[in-house]
Amino acid sequence: RRHAAATLSIRSEISYVMIKPDGVQRGLVGEIIGRFERKGFKLVALKLFQCPKDIAEEHYKDLSSKPFFGALVEYILSGPVVCMVWEGAGVVKSARKLIGATNPLEAEPGTIRGDLAVQVGRNVVHGSDSAENGERETALWFGKDALVSWEPALAPWLIESN
Ligand code: GDP
Ligand code: MG
Repeated sequence: RRHAAATLSIRSEISYVMIKPDGVQRGLVGEIIGRFERKGFKLVALKLFQCPKDIAEEHYKDLSSKPFFGALVEYILSGPVVCMVWEGAGVVKSARKLIGATNPLEAEPGTIRGDLAVQVGRNVVHGSDSAENGERETALWFGKDALVSWEPALAPWLIESN
């Protein structure tokens, strides 16, 4: 009972987080993954991936009428990305806070974009904007049943069980 709660075996919420091609090219993979790791969320999927066009277009379909849509898709296809899924209570909102505002010039220092980027078209990282999109994007980038079920040894030091 105590063990189950401490290890989050009751699935809370997932966020799809992606290091965009600029983040990979700039050697920021370790830096970015490290921030999520240190925060205390649980990594449940991870891959380096050269994205095909149909996935990039589907991922950003809500933005398809924007003038920058073509450039955005081209950006995502311009090199490998690192795809991740992080799990934990409140992970969706918290990941967005760790990532910072869409425009890096507006992003607070201490956030990934605030510390590591200067332009909206090269803002190094993606994070789901809702729990529903976390599920949708995870299915799109990883397919179903891709998540690894495991129990972090440090869970009792991160999550109080009661
Ligand atoms: P996010 O959820 O913070 O990533 O922001 P959005 O969902 O609004 O936009 C998705 C992505 O489209 C952003 O992360 C940017 O890479 C890109 N984007 C958004 N707005 C602009 C813009 O005005 N110009 C350009 N070039 N790219 C943009
Ligand atoms: Mg978004």
